[in-house]
Amino acid sequence: MAKKYVYFYGGGKKMTDGDRTMREILGGKGANLAEMCNADVPVPPGFTVSTEACAVYEDKGSYPKEMMQQVKVELAKLEKLEGKKLGDAKNPLLLSVRSGAAQSMPGMMDTVLNLGMTDKSVKGFAEATGNPRAAYDCYRRFIDMFGDVVMGPYSTLNHHHFEEALTKIKKKYKAKQDTDLTAEQLAELVDDYKAIYKKHVGKPFPQDPMKQLELSINAVFDSWQTERAVKYRILNKITGLIGTAVNVQTMVFGNMGDDCATGVAFTRDGSTGEAKPMGEYLVNAQGEDVVAGIRTPINLDEIVNEEDQGLVKAGKQLLKIMAKLEKHYKYPQDVEFTIQQGKLYMLQTRNAKRVGLAGVRWAVEMATGVDQMTGEKLPKLLNAKEALMTVQGSDLEQLLFPIFDAKAEAKQTPICSGLPAGPGAAVGAIVLNSDKAEQMKKKNPNQKLILVRHETSPEDVGGMGAAEGILTSTGGMTSHAAVVARGWGKCCICGAGDLKINEKKGTISVGGKTYKEGETISLNGSTGKVYVGEIPSESSPIVAALVEGNKAAKKHWIYKMYEVVSEWSDKFRKINVRTNADSPADSKNARAFGAEGIGLCRTEHMFFEGDRITDVRRFILADTDKERNAAIKKLLPHQRKDFVGIFKAMDGLPVTVRLLDPPLHEFLPHTEADMKKMAKELSVPLSKVQERVAELHEFNPMLGHRGCRLSITYPVLCEMQTRAIIEAAVKVQEKGTKVLPEIMIPLIGTKAELDYLEKIVRRVADEIIKTKKSKVKYMVGTMIEIPRAALTADQVAETAEFFSFGTNDLTQMTFGYSRDDIGSFLPDYLEEKILETDPFQQIDESGVGQLVEMAVQKGRSTRPKLKCGICGEHGGEPNSVKFCVRTGLDYVSCSPYRVPIARLAAAQAALEG
Ligand code: PEP
Ligand code: MG
Repeated sequence: MAKKYVYFYGGGKKMTDGDRTMREILGGKGANLAEMCNADVPVPPGFTVSTEACAVYEDKGSYPKEMMQQVKVELAKLEKLEGKKLGDAKNPLLLSVRSGAAQSMPGMMDTVLNLGMTDKSVKGFAEATGNPRAAYDCYRRFIDMFGDVVMGPYSTLNHHHFEEALTKIKKKYKAKQDTDLTAEQLAELVDDYKAIYKKHVGKPFPQDPMKQLELSINAVFDSWQTERAVKYRILNKITGLIGTAVNVQTMVFGNMGDDCATGVAFTRDGSTGEAKPMGEYLVNAQGEDVVAGIRTPINLDEIVNEEDQGLVKAGKQLLKIMAKLEKHYKYPQDVEFTIQQGKLYMLQTRNAKRVGLAGVRWAVEMATGVDQMTGEKLPKLLNAKEALMTVQGSDLEQLLFPIFDAKAEAKQTPICSGLPAGPGAAVGAIVLNSDKAEQMKKKNPNQKLILVRHETSPEDVGGMGAAEGILTSTGGMTSHAAVVARGWGKCCICGAGDLKINEKKGTISVGGKTYKEGETISLNGSTGKVYVGEIPSESSPIVAALVEGNKAAKKHWIYKMYEVVSEWSDKFRKINVRTNADSPADSKNARAFGAEGIGLCRTEHMFFEGDRITDVRRFILADTDKERNAAIKKLLPHQRKDFVGIFKAMDGLPVTVRLLDPPLHEFLPHTEADMKKMAKELSVPLSKVQERVAELHEFNPMLGHRGCRLSITYPVLCEMQTRAIIEAAVKVQEKGTKVLPEIMIPLIGTKAELDYLEKIVRRVADEIIKTKKSKVKYMVGTMIEIPRAALTADQVAETAEFFSFGTNDLTQMTFGYSRDDIGSFLPDYLEEKILETDPFQQIDESGVGQLVEMAVQKGRSTRPKLKCGICGEHGGEPNSVKFCVRTGLDYVSCSPYRVPIARLAAAQAALEG
């Protein structure tokens, strides 16, 4: 039997082929359309061409043979169900053709509406509906979309050519809005559009509807690989998809009069998280008008006040269906709907996008059934486990973002305001062009920018990604800018209507004042207010409560929600979460965020503090052991003090301290002026400093004299650090605080390296403990950062009591990509799909991960109780944390602010099983 590429939906459960579980094949939209049909929600029927057909098209450059045949069969079924025929001269069926991948990519893919309009069928449509105006409106829209989307890539044609003609005819007939044009005027416009089409494409507009359909399916498939789609997938880390599905659906019309409307709605607010439906609609319009921000849409709350009772009734039904869908999907939904002459149709439903705050609020409210702000009762849709699975690490991350200092903001007068489309505070320099924003950010990654546009389109995603915040002068809460920004959790203000933008002059004007590109503005994405200049921002209530000791913040509802999620995370997770911290202050913060120990204390950072660097430099310049020992001796009390502070802060939790790791040249100055300064401070000739700097120069310092190699050359380093750690431990323990030091030897490749240093560590440590008659227990272990160490982990574990995977270096050495220089080629690799993600952010499971798995297994084969953890950057990245859980690590360790995210990911991994 031929492979099935086309799936019917509509006509109830009996006729519908798919369901929500089939999103990989049907795409999110197709799967949900089928699911709605199964649940008897009114959906215009149609069929979905599968992502598998797209994959074949991508691969071979043409459809699978059977596909068009199957399309014809399903089309015939559709025609029968609807009692209409495509291209019919009397009662024509019109179709929409839309993309829909397994993961949503809002606005990224192309859509064609009103397909099937021809010179013949437009008349039939006018007759059958008794509405010639709608007929010609649909025809002109179809020529526009078909011309732009389907033929645009192969000709000089684009939407603006049609826009110009529309503006011209509106002027000619003094029509204010496009809805003021009569049927005859629209028929005239259709002729203009056809002429424009022919001029740019070189052929007349196609009058065979099957040809129109085939070309449109092609166009959707082609749009999968457009630059903007590829960029969107990279920015949103969408990987592993085979292509887009194509949804062919019976058209319903929101533009057939004042009893018609079209709109989009959310079952809950995606910005504030409030459990109240929100949405927007336009009367007498087609779907794309709402998203494109062409007319300012009406708030969904107003639908019950419409004069037309058909609209009122359909509006009420819509709210009921939205509640039903939310309950069915157990998640807030984002729906598209059309009301045709008082009859409601649902065109789409999907899990709604939201900012981090809303994501957390939704989860907590769906599980507790209590509005977190007001205490009101809400429906309980999920249990704690299910709710926790809906929270993303980035949601929690966003909750830690700063907001404007309320007092400082109150003193400022906004220059204008718009819709609060994406919350948080953003400050940056005005930039009016997306390419420019992208280039500026590339040149200077620290540059803070605010992208200001009339409205954004998919072409702007690069610039939007580069900006701290986005400000648009038109468009609503569901415009492109709003939807994309919310998906990213980015600060965004839309529809600031008073704003005049002059891209050519590089200015924006409002209230009689003009501001130039480069001037700083501040956006409050939670209120929609725009200010000139920089407003100081204020910590999130969570940071205020946990880090800044602000007691009042602990009563803040956002903080309380954070507590609920944290409790859930800790209840379900099975592995520990530690932190990478080098100072008592960081340790304290990390504990407040829930860290259960330090997984990596990088001691080199302590070497730079105050005037210690002078002694470090004395050590490096020393010619004799005597000089070296003298310099090192001076460092000892400082290091000991640091460790006392850290052990106290960690109050009985384990602390892994790594011996010095970076190459010594990192501690020396590199400019002539700084070398002179150093020579003066150390009372040595400049030439001596210069000579030592030259001596320490390495062609490849990352593979040079660093890590354990330093202590092998200079055992006093290892001795001093061990002494500082153990003496501090003894001291703190004497005062009643339990201490669990774990001394970690970095960058070993052979067991012999570890053995050599382990002996020194134990000699020094045991002697102190014995002399002081202390009960301090310590461990000696190593980092696994070099592939050879992983390959010989069984031998290494004979000596090492613990392994900590330094996956930054392990990734560097496994791939052979310099961790500091990957930026020069990574974008090309991602774009060409040579790499799916940045391996320094998300662990490369099949390569680096394989080494980790192997090292854990081999290590535990010789030391069954070997403690294993990870301390590379991956320890705070949710997918990598999940990998660590699956691999059987005992803990992950990450920077303090990522601890809540790691706790969440660890719990999710445990729940995923
Ligand atoms: C590592 O290599 O993963 C690591 C944690 O050490 P560092 O980043 O300090 O090299
Ligand atoms: Mg390292």
